[in-house]
Amino acid sequence: MKALVYAGPGKKELREVEKPRVVKDSDAVVRLVKTTICGTDLHILGGDVPAVKEGTILGHEGIGIVEEVGAGVSNFKVGDKVIISCVTSCGKCHYCKKSLYAHCEDGGWILGHLINGTQAEYVHIPHADNSLYHVPQGISDDAAVMISDILPTGFEVGVLSGQVSPGDVVAIVGAGPIGMSALLTSQFYSPSKIIMIDLDDNRLEESKKFGATETINSRDAQATIDKIFELTDGRGVDVAIEAVGYPATFDICQRILSPGGHLANVGVHGKPVELQLQDLWIRNVTITTGLVSTNTTPLLLKTLETGKIKPEVLVTHQFKFDDMIEAYETFANAAKEHALKIIIDFQ
Ligand SMILES: [Zn+2]
Ligand SMILES: [Zn+2]
Repeated sequence: MKALVYAGPGKKELREVEKPRVVKDSDAVVRLVKTTICGTDLHILGGDVPAVKEGTILGHEGIGIVEEVGAGVSNFKVGDKVIISCVTSCGKCHYCKKSLYAHCEDGGWILGHLINGTQAEYVHIPHADNSLYHVPQGISDDAAVMISDILPTGFEVGVLSGQVSPGDVVAIVGAGPIGMSALLTSQFYSPSKIIMIDLDDNRLEESKKFGATETINSRDAQATIDKIFELTDGRGVDVAIEAVGYPATFDICQRILSPGGHLANVGVHGKPVELQLQDLWIRNVTITTGLVSTNTTPLLLKTLETGKIKPEVLVTHQFKFDDMIEAYETFANAAKEHALKIIIDFQ
């Protein structure tokens, strides 16, 4: 089969590899229908995730058709159309019992990281019963792909951890796919304002179509902070969602919180940040972090089924799997290409 393989820092190759088979009774093999590229894949290619070995197939998102199941798989049969969760979980261990699938003792985020991923014609899925989801009738393929990672990540680590509540003022720093997912799913809770903050004017403009009430270009950090206080009667925001992962964007979030506010960090940080605890301690604020557990996937699927949110609006580009290298080029130049989510089609 053909697969997109990590060939060491900065290098990727579309090459012929062996097709995976079921190894354990709890496994499945899925034939991919659609996949996508994630910012995390770019981090891996940049050499930021040294745990990824050369020769690993990248990708942790996608939908497909079940090709083969182990004898112990009871929720899925050959021919079922499924969503592949970015997080693999056994459903039985200490952390799975707490719904912290991100920290499953025999799983977590392993696809396209510690084991071969979804940017291939076939993928091997351990613990299939707990790591795959049936695609409900009436949901488009593109929308279903958004359920693998970005929607649950924006919702769980941003909106739920940030405790977005009716009437709240929410600021989302970072208008990429994860920030946009937080923007879509925060609207379940009817905040009064959602302020989108980014360096890219095109993304800010797009965010208005998806429900942002105000946008701020953050090229001047102090002016951004001043503008937020102006928009909130000098109080600051109830919830600041950090969806970038840089010290500068975290800093904006910690400086715009109102007393009692929540800072929900979603961004993947590679460097330490300077925590302004001398200002924060007296303000009754809460700071949360996390890796997605995908335990809200069933709930999110219901909101897609009823059309409450339409995450396919985040898809800006379509490619064939044969053009995967070109797809990576487009995604790596997202600002110039006006790219948010890119769908890769295997047909
Ligand atoms: Zn991802
Ligand atoms: Zn587990």
